Amino acid sequence: MAIKSKNIATTCVHSGPMPDAHGAVMPPIYLSSTYAFETVGKQRTFDYGRSGNPTRFALETCLAELEGGIRGFAFGTGMAATATLIQLFNAGDHFLVHDDLYGGTYRLMASVMTTKGVDVEFINMRDLDKLRAAIRPNTRGIWTETPTNPLMNLLDLTAIAAIAKEHNVITLCDNTFLSPYFQRPLDLGMDIVMHSTTKYLNGHSDVVGGGAVTNNPELADKIGMLQNAMGSGQAPFDCFLVLRGIKTLPVRMDVHNANALALAKWLQTRPEIKEVLHPGLESHPQHELAKRQMSGYGGTFSFRMQNGEMVKKALSNVKMFTLAESLGGVESLIEQPWTMTHVSMPEDVRIAVGITDDLVRVSVGIEHIDDIIADLQQAFEA
Ligand SMILES: *Cc1c(COP(=O)(O)O)cnc(C)c1O
Repeated sequence: MAIKSKNIATTCVHSGPMPDAHGAVMPPIYLSSTYAFETVGKQRTFDYGRSGNPTRFALETCLAELEGGIRGFAFGTGMAATATLIQLFNAGDHFLVHDDLYGGTYRLMASVMTTKGVDVEFINMRDLDKLRAAIRPNTRGIWTETPTNPLMNLLDLTAIAAIAKEHNVITLCDNTFLSPYFQRPLDLGMDIVMHSTTKYLNGHSDVVGGGAVTNNPELADKIGMLQNAMGSGQAPFDCFLVLRGIKTLPVRMDVHNANALALAKWLQTRPEIKEVLHPGLESHPQHELAKRQMSGYGGTFSFRMQNGEMVKKALSNVKMFTLAESLGGVESLIEQPWTMTHVSMPEDVRIAVGITDDLVRVSVGIEHIDDIIADLQQAFEA
C-alpha cells in the first residue's frame, strides 16, 4: 500500500502505486477498456475504462493526497478539467470569475458557460470589497487563479474563501502555476482545486492533462458523476506519465524557484527592462501575501521591456530558450502573451488588464542559471 506521510516529498514518490502480482515498483499501465464482472450483478472495483481505470485511479489518489483532499480526478487536459467543473453550475446561476487569468479559461467562461445560460461576471478579486459587493442571492461559484497568468497578481485565497462561506458559494482555484508543492488552496479554504497537469505536475512537456481535487464529499460525488457522464477522464498512458513526473516534483520545483528568482533579480538590473512581475521580489505589491500564502514562487513570471519592438528583437534572438507557449517543463521557454498565449482574450480586455505588447513571460527551466542568464543577455544585446 501507499506510504502515508505529512511530507510532500515522500508523498510524491510513494503515493499512487498499487500492489501487483510481480511486485512492480512502478504502477502498471492498464490499457484494458473493460473488466470482467465477478458474477451477475457484482462488479469488481472497475467495470469500464471511461468510468475508472487502475492507472488513472493511482494518479487520482496521488493528486488527492498532494492537495490534501478526499478525492482526486484526472482529465484529458486542463481545459477538460475546467469544462467538467463548470457543469456544477446551471442556467440562472451567477458565477464570479477573476478578470485576469489563463486565456483558455477566459474563453471557456466567456463563451461556453455564458451560452449555456450561466451569468458569468468577471471582476478584479484583489479588491475584496468589490467581491463582497458583487455577490448576489443567486451567486453559486467563484473561480480564482493565483498567481495569475501572465501578470503574476495574487488573490488572497483565505479571505475569498471566508467571504464565499458566508454566502454558501463554491470556491474553485486554478493552482497550475505553483503546484501543491508551493501552495495548497484546500488548506486555505477553497472547495475545489484545479490543475493543468500539463505544466509542473507532469513537468516534462510530453503530456497534456488536467486534475481536480476536493475535500467536500458532496462535490466529490458530483464531479465523479460528471467525469464519467462527460467522458473527460485521462487516458491510462498519460496518467502513468503524469504520475512519473510527480515523483520528481519537489526537486524540480526547488530548482525552478531558485532559477526564476535569480533571473528576476538579474532582470531588475538591466536597462532594457521596465518592470519585473515576480511575487518573490520586494517590489511586488503583494509580496507580503506571497510570503503568507505560498511556500515558494514557482518558475514562471513575466517582465515588461521598454517597448514591443525590443520584445520582438529579444524573442527572435534567444538560443537556449524556446519561443513557445506552455510552461512548467524542465526546459526554459519564453513567449509574448500579446501574440501567443492570450490571443483568445479580446484585444480591449487584454489592454484593460495590462497584457500589452511589451510583456514577456518566461517559464524558467532547470538548466544552470548562468546559461539561462547568458542566453537572455545575448538576446538583449544582439
Ligand atoms: C495551461 C493552463 C490551463 C489549461 O490547461 P491545458 O492542459 O492546456 O488544457 C489552465 N490554467 C492555467 C493556469 C494554465 O497554465
